[in-house]
Amino acid sequence: MKVVKFGGSSLADAAHIKQVCSIILEDRQRRLVVVSAPGKRFPEDTKVTDMLIELANKYMETENPSYQEESEKQLQLIVERYRSIAVELEMNMDIVTVIEADLRKRLALRKNGKRHDDGIVREISDEQFMDLMKAAGEDNSAKLVASYLIGLGINAQYINPKDAGMILSKEYGNARVLPHSYETLNKLNDNGNIMIFPGFFGYSSDGDVVTFSRGGSDVTGAVLAAAVKASVYENFTDVDSVYAANPNIIDNPKPIPVFTYAEMRELSYAGFTVLHEETLEQVYKMGIPVNIKNTNNPKAPGTFIVNERMDTDSVPVVGIAADGGFFTINVTKYMMNREIGFGRRLLHILEDEGVSYEHTPSGIDSICVIIRNKNCSVEIRNRIIRKIYNDLKVDSVSLHENIAIVMLVGQGMLKRIGVASRATGALSKAGVNISMINQGSSEVSIMFGIDEKDSLNAVKALYQEFFEE
Ligand code: ASP
Repeated sequence: MKVVKFGGSSLADAAHIKQVCSIILEDRQRRLVVVSAPGKRFPEDTKVTDMLIELANKYMETENPSYQEESEKQLQLIVERYRSIAVELEMNMDIVTVIEADLRKRLALRKNGKRHDDGIVREISDEQFMDLMKAAGEDNSAKLVASYLIGLGINAQYINPKDAGMILSKEYGNARVLPHSYETLNKLNDNGNIMIFPGFFGYSSDGDVVTFSRGGSDVTGAVLAAAVKASVYENFTDVDSVYAANPNIIDNPKPIPVFTYAEMRELSYAGFTVLHEETLEQVYKMGIPVNIKNTNNPKAPGTFIVNERMDTDSVPVVGIAADGGFFTINVTKYMMNREIGFGRRLLHILEDEGVSYEHTPSGIDSICVIIRNKNCSVEIRNRIIRKIYNDLKVDSVSLHENIAIVMLVGQGMLKRIGVASRATGALSKAGVNISMINQGSSEVSIMFGIDEKDSLNAVKALYQEFFEE
């Protein structure tokens, strides 16, 4: 069985949905299909998920009478998105009634509370409500596609993630799959129909809707591919291939036919947005190849992500990525290397504040902690600095903001003489100051910390050095 996932742009309108269905029907192995919510039809358009977030926000303000009207208008806009698709697909309009009723039912849960197994009705919290609303995009998209296929006389079926056993941690907006889900989801292998499975959400053990982080339908597809032990996980999007660098920065970047999981992981970490960052974890463990393909050009072979690449010797570098939004905490203390437990105490301060860190390159008497801005508010930052200074009796502690991370990625490149020197040479020629280099224990990448304002220049300089010979 192949697991196939279609992103929001592939579900944006009727023409795309027809194309999606013809892709599904072209190959009998495409039996487990994950769909996103309808995405943008044109650049200024709004994704259904964003419309639902707006609806949820408006509805939460409904004590204010003008907001009641606003939220009703917003609901109608969403229903209209689905209605226009159904009309163009010449479907029975019952599906639109089903979708509208579903949205109203979700809103009513906020208003009236939810009855629990013990019979008590409890209010649902803001975050619980937000996830419930966000999930409606994918859920109704799946119902619509299944109903369209059934209308064509195909044995298709909408699959409810709860019935199938997609059980997630109760972390609203950022859930992770619970290990026992795989066994239950494996039973989907016994279903003979074409299964249309909504992406992006699942249920907590006590029955609440919880979503992955944004873009999480990729993760749904990966979890399912691992659970049913799929022969391949086909991820359909709107590009022919994954490229060596961001096409918004480099004109016509080189398409890359094969990446390894490790390479793709490093690239998506540093801003490659082709796949959700957590996608590969699931398929990597099972060694299931991922094939990124274009819904608008399904004949193109796309890009494969696999365990091993055969051409690592001839192609040492496969991609360059850059991402801003980091800051560093730089700490110095004379004789730091001799102080037992220093690193642990430093990281403990971060742990106490609930902050995850990215990397900690260090010298003999210095250590630098790299943190994403979004993981640490300014207030917490200042508290961490004070604690480091007072509790660890350091010589200096300073904060450097507006840092970008640039990754040069390629399996096995560190065994090649000269890759690092070519990279630093190219950056220096482009006038980019490197504030940190981290090769760490990774065999797959070299990471540079630079000023955010230099990040475009850095990508261009590295691309020219490694791909424009
Ligand atoms: N619809 C969700 C989002 O916009 C999830 C997804 O498309 O993967 O984030």
